[in-house]
Order: sequence, then C-alpha cells, then structure tokens
Amino acid sequence: MEIINRRQRMSSVARKLRREQDKTIGLVPTMGALHDGHLSLVREARRMCDVVVVSVFVNPTQFGPGEDFERYPRDLTNDTTKLADYNVEYIFAPSVEEIYPKGFATYVTVEGLSEPLEGVARPGHFRGVATVLTVLFNTVRPDFAFFGQKDAQQTIVVKRLVRDLAFDTEIVVLPTVREDSGLALSSRNTYLDPQERRAATVLYRALSQAREVYMEGERSARRLAEVARDIIESEPRARLEYVSVSDAETMEKLDKISDERPVLIALAAHVGRTRLIDNIILQPARQKGHTSDLKRP
Ligand code: AMP
Repeated sequence: MEIINRRQRMSSVARKLRREQDKTIGLVPTMGALHDGHLSLVREARRMCDVVVVSVFVNPTQFGPGEDFERYPRDLTNDTTKLADYNVEYIFAPSVEEIYPKGFATYVTVEGLSEPLEGVARPGHFRGVATVLTVLFNTVRPDFAFFGQKDAQQTIVVKRLVRDLAFDTEIVVLPTVREDSGLALSSRNTYLDPQERRAATVLYRALSQAREVYMEGERSARRLAEVARDIIESEPRARLEYVSVSDAETMEKLDKISDERPVLIALAAHVGRTRLIDNIILQPARQKGHTSDLKRP
C-alpha cells in the first residue's frame, strides 16, 4: 500500500495503471475516521475493481462557518491499518494546499438538487462536495466511484454532476451500515456521549415508524413526515431540523406518494451539539422484494 500526498503523483500512478496495465480503478472518497460504513464501500470496490484508491481528505469547502471542520476526527494511522486489511493499493491523502493551491478559483455548482434539505441547512456544502469530487475524479479518473446511501442527497447530486459534466466514472451507491441499535455509522458519532448515543437511535426509529405506517397503506407524505417528527420530538435530547418526503431520484417534494417511484424519507436532527442525518427509501409496492434501484444490482 502506498500513501500518496501529491496530486501529480496520484494522477501519474493512475494514468500508468490505466494505460500500461489496463487496470480498472475504483475510488472511495472519504474524509477519514473510517468505520464499517466506509469499509463496506471499500469491500465492494475491492470486489469490482483491479485497483482501489481510497481518498482521505477533510474537505474545508464543504464545511460552513461555525461547523466542525477543525475538530473533525483525523487519524490517518488508524485509517491506514484498517485499509491494509482490504489490500487497498493506494491511499490518497493530500493536504488542503495540494487540493486548493494558492489562487484556486473554480467551483462546481449542481443547481436545483443541491438546494433543498442539506442545501438549506448547510449553504455551500454541495458546492464544496462537487468541487472536491471534480478534482478527485480528474486526478484519479476512476472507472467506478463508491458512495453510501447514508448521504442520500449527496448521491443524487454526485450522479447529476457526473452526468452533466460527462465524467467517465460510474457511481455506485451502497446501503447504509447501521449499529444493531439502528444508529447509522458516522464519523460524527464519536462526538456523542453514551446517553446521546442512545438518544441518537431515535433517528432510525422515526424513519422505521414512518415506513411501518407506509406499509400499512398510508400515502400522505405529510402524514409520514408527522409520524417521524412525533417520534423525534418524544426524545428530549434530540432536536429535529427537518424531515422530508421526496422523490428518491429527483428530490421533488411529494404530497401524495405514488406506487410508481421510490420515495426518500430524509431527516436531520441535533442530538446535544451533534448534527446527524439519516434516511430510508420506500420502494414502490410493485418493486417490493427487488434490490433497491439506487443500489447496483
Ligand atoms: P464521509 O467520510 O463521511 O465523507 O463519508 C465517505 C463515504 O462513506 C460517503 O459516500 C458516505 O456516504 C459513506 N458512508 C458514511 N457513513 C456510512 C454508513 N453508515 N453506511 C454506508 N456508507 C457510509
């Protein structure tokens, strides 16, 4: 395994792999502090691609003022140990200056899809995400890039980015990995104290209850949102920021749920000082039992 810090070295290594050795390259973009959610992406990349590159970069442009950029957990030594178990060939761990050298002035905005939900709560977040991914994709030129359903809106924005700017990279989305408690794994869970960690399970309980009500036949989006909201509000340590019921592909806000298209229920809540997000997809009744179409078959 080689740890690469320089953009130029990363692109020349990747170019050689592609041109001289005809290898397929899988990229797993992360901000480090790796957990089993990240590792599920690495495992799939390993299965699908000849060479796996994991990027570890806490991207300043996707954090807003007052967010946790400075205190975001960083532990490259531990990350390296975890990735060695998966025989990852390359870790790309550039400095901020390497990605954003002096004079950097070009940003990528995915209009529309970046605007609701996380876009309201975190203005500029997806501009930062789309910009860093553009740099990473152009540096590595991966055949496949792997993302988690945990960040549902991010997967939608990234798919559009790749389509609109004609990147020659296929986006693979994999299911959210959870603790037995239902809590979605997240690097930010390290901010939670034991009581908050227990309280944080309310996010998945809220989503599961909304799904339950949907399965019983409820098709009013407002009603499903209310069910989730009530459960979050029953947990004194949690403060709901939003709950949204939208089309899982277009992010269009729904009124009535059709049985034709997948539906995304997404929410964000603060537990103590920590902001957490989670979501589930409701598959249309017709497709039940089939693999999610947000996942690669
Ligand atoms: P991050 O390091 O938080 O930027 O996440 C890097 C990638 O890992 C993103 O594609 C995330 O969606 C994905 N990811 C984070 N948490 C999970 C999880 N619990 N299950 C699956 N994927 C995840």
